[in-house]
Amino acid sequence: LFVSFEGGDGVGKSTQVALLGHHLAARGREVVVTREPGGTPLGLELRQAILHGEDLDPRTEALLYAADRAHHVASLVRPALERGAVVLTDRYLDSSVAYQGTGRGLGADEVERLSLWAARGLLPHVTVLLDLDPAVGLARLTGDPDRLESAGADFHRRTRDAFLARAAQDPDRWLVLDASQPAEDLAAQVRARLAPLLEG
Ligand code: C5P
Repeated sequence: LFVSFEGGDGVGKSTQVALLGHHLAARGREVVVTREPGGTPLGLELRQAILHGEDLDPRTEALLYAADRAHHVASLVRPALERGAVVLTDRYLDSSVAYQGTGRGLGADEVERLSLWAARGLLPHVTVLLDLDPAVGLARLTGDPDRLESAGADFHRRTRDAFLARAAQDPDRWLVLDASQPAEDLAAQVRARLAPLLEG
């Protein structure tokens, strides 16, 4: 079972990934918790280059995310799924469609094609969208902002709308949650959505 968590910065993705991971591990499942960008050693180098390196043209940025994803899927996600593990990822290709496709203006369809090519077509069984007003999410963040976190309010509004529009197109895959709810309530809704998929 492959589950991705998506949404803006500060919405609580990593908290939900951790809560679900602990829940499943306590029930004896093998759980692999990972993220993009940066789920592998090469991915960590790419993450550093993308978020804290020199200024990048949008296409360069999109290709570096795609390189991170290709390596992540080939070296970590697919092998884990093949041995029957549950893989939980904090961001996946829908982030690229929203951020590089819509936010950076490269085009959602083009970035989706690039992302699917990089991932050899691997889509999550379920994608949880933690939806929140970007102003609320960004205010929750602590520490130095990375390049994206310091992008303008308009950029964050566009990416939020892009996630919501994408989710509306494929309700079978997406679970959209109001991320202003308490973390435990959100976790319960995620578990309820996944329960039928985890039986057997
Ligand atoms: O969620 P995380 O902190 O790992 O994301 C790092 C930064 O990269 C965030 O500011 C996020 O908005 C951005 N990002 C992006 N495009 C992606 C994935 C992440 O712009 N495909």
